[in-house]
Amino acid sequence: MTSTTTTSRATVYGYPRQGAERQLKKAIESYWAGRVDADALLATARDLRLRNLAELRDAGIDEIPSNYFSFYDHVLDTSWLLGAIPERHLAAVPDATTAAGRLDRYFAMARGTADAPPMEMTKWFDTNYHYLVPELGPDTQFSLDASKPLDEFAEALEQGVTTRPVVLGPVSFLLLAKDPTGTDGFQPLDLLDRIVPLYVDLLRQLREAGAEWVQLDEPALVTDQPAEVLGKVEETYAALAREEARPKILVASYFDRLGEALPVLAAAPVEGLAIDFTGSAAANVEGLAAAGGIPRKRLVAGIVNGRNIWAADLTAALTTLGTLLGLAGTVDVAPSCSLLHVPLDVTLETDLDPEIAGWLSFARQKLEEIVTLRRGLTEDRSTIANALHVNASRLASRAASPIVRVPAVRDRVAAITDTDLHRAAPYGKRRQAQQDRLRLPELPTTTIGSFPQTGELRKARAALRAGKLDRDAYQEAMKAEIRAVIAEQEQIGLDVLVHGEPERNDMVQYFGEQLTGFLATQHGWVQSYGTRYVRPPLIVGDVARPEPMTVAWATYAQSLTERPVKGMLTGPVTMLAWSFVRDDQPEGDTARQVAFALRDEVVDLENAGIKVIQVDEPALRETLPLRTADRAAYLEWAVASFRLATSGVRDETQIHTHMCYAEFGDVLQAIIDMDADVISLEAARSNMAIVADLARAGYPNEAGPGVWDIHSPRVPSVEEIVGHLRTASSAFPADRLWVNPDCGLKTRGYPEVRATLANLVEATGQVRARS
Ligand code: GLN
Ligand code: ZN
Repeated sequence: MTSTTTTSRATVYGYPRQGAERQLKKAIESYWAGRVDADALLATARDLRLRNLAELRDAGIDEIPSNYFSFYDHVLDTSWLLGAIPERHLAAVPDATTAAGRLDRYFAMARGTADAPPMEMTKWFDTNYHYLVPELGPDTQFSLDASKPLDEFAEALEQGVTTRPVVLGPVSFLLLAKDPTGTDGFQPLDLLDRIVPLYVDLLRQLREAGAEWVQLDEPALVTDQPAEVLGKVEETYAALAREEARPKILVASYFDRLGEALPVLAAAPVEGLAIDFTGSAAANVEGLAAAGGIPRKRLVAGIVNGRNIWAADLTAALTTLGTLLGLAGTVDVAPSCSLLHVPLDVTLETDLDPEIAGWLSFARQKLEEIVTLRRGLTEDRSTIANALHVNASRLASRAASPIVRVPAVRDRVAAITDTDLHRAAPYGKRRQAQQDRLRLPELPTTTIGSFPQTGELRKARAALRAGKLDRDAYQEAMKAEIRAVIAEQEQIGLDVLVHGEPERNDMVQYFGEQLTGFLATQHGWVQSYGTRYVRPPLIVGDVARPEPMTVAWATYAQSLTERPVKGMLTGPVTMLAWSFVRDDQPEGDTARQVAFALRDEVVDLENAGIKVIQVDEPALRETLPLRTADRAAYLEWAVASFRLATSGVRDETQIHTHMCYAEFGDVLQAIIDMDADVISLEAARSNMAIVADLARAGYPNEAGPGVWDIHSPRVPSVEEIVGHLRTASSAFPADRLWVNPDCGLKTRGYPEVRATLANLVEATGQVRARS
């Protein structure tokens, strides 16, 4: 590559916000607890932003973003920016003239107060980050409060850095919003005309403050959008561009291909586009070529995957960048999305085998990758020869590693036959065998798996980790808990019991720790929502189960009672969804490996006398691909891996599954195809709507729609539960209905669990007696 591209810059869209020691989480939680005041919290936040600024500058990032910081969530920040604050939160914190008042109103929106429920939270596209859904109705009045982007821009400018403020764009903001009252014929997107002038005003103010570029994020454009929406995109950006006193506009998209939105953006009168070219978004290269390129625009090429943890293939990336050079005015180098979605630094993982560490790239390593790639574009290739060499040898070490490819695992997956994916008999025959064996009453009652995770349980786990409690003492503590949980359930009168999952820190981590191919991190924290961070395991190699994982706990629990106790496992799709997955084979292959490990566990549980086995798939809906065209292929492997995991048992063994955290309308056929004998589903908050959906779709097996919204500490009354059961049985055959809460009980306290389950059993008794 020669001198034509000397203007290439390295940039990012965002960086982990929390600090290397999760200082932000600690400061915010201390503020909530009243241990520090607003000024102290603001000072911590400022300090973290300045550290990130210095870190990005020192790493060689040429253009640094601002306004990616957030005390809770960047979509909530956008609601605030536009003055879209729900009435109830204005009323809950009437005075927002002080720093504390502003923070309190903001946190009231995020977390609620005693009488003002929080805004709804949902997943950010197909990531594990959650945002607060803007609440907009036909009467919403907007007013601009640009203080956050302006202050954060000025703060960096004082350090001599002209940043590129990042703001969620108007179209995506509205597409992510909801009208909680469901006004007929109204869509938040109808409000576009009202917010575009505020964006114009914002652009003007940023320009006045010295901003040269602004980044407007429009990730909603990577999902299927009708022509009407694309028309609005065109109008919106024409209107924004018309303002003369503004920074240059960079419209950013990420997470998938732009498809039909690409030509619209290519033709828009904005100065730059940031486009994802990784993973399923690689098709954007052809899309851009088909649109005739953007010869007069700046292209920010998202070329390093910003949401996985793998070292990039730098040589391949340079080749793609070479193609892109022919398609745009200038080409800058960036990760595909904000680095918010990956852990901070591989070098903190001191327990990791150095060879494996070399395969990985967290946020700090991704900065190095993009700076190397930028140099590859602007300097003589020989200046990065060494970096390319090191990269190639690391990729080669990964490809050749015996951890990554285990022939026995691969042979087994290669030999899967259709028989492996089917129970021996159809549901009707299994149902009879299960009824004869389990002899359950009509409307059987059960729970989803976990019981409250008490302080004592957490203490025991911490003591075990710290070496203050030996294995035997720990096991004893867990057994005591299981005894207590079984006794509780017998006392309450439930029909199918659970052991309570006291031994599990987390439903994915627990299995990840016992399966080969999975690795845990020490510091790999990633923001899930607000101050909640998770440490997803990494799937680095072929997955196998060296020994049984749950059989001892399940059989111990079963030995304590005559009633059936459910074996409890996490399904293949959820294991993948809440881990960082490998990028060197299709996800379906990884899922089938996990499924085989689970299949062995299921069969071992059956052989140990466990009669009911639940395989949870709460993540099945959330990993649905963003583009409709990709969904069938995903659902096919998702369903097949569940069936592979659960089809090894005899007719009389009852397989359950469980789903939550989503609306299931668009995966009903997959639920039917999974062919679990029983599915329990979240349903209480939507007033059992799913039951009618299942009936309409012709779901033939048994279902337990949740009658208790376990996300709230509220105890539903007997009448309320009776009402739910009547609603359910009016839409679905009662002889195929189960009675259970929406989800596991681990976040609840014992008083409300006891009270609610007693009401649940009482309500079920009343409905049984009257039918
Ligand atoms: N069995 C798990 C539990 O009860 C299910 C959790 C979930 O669906 N997220 O905790
Ligand atoms: Zn659940």
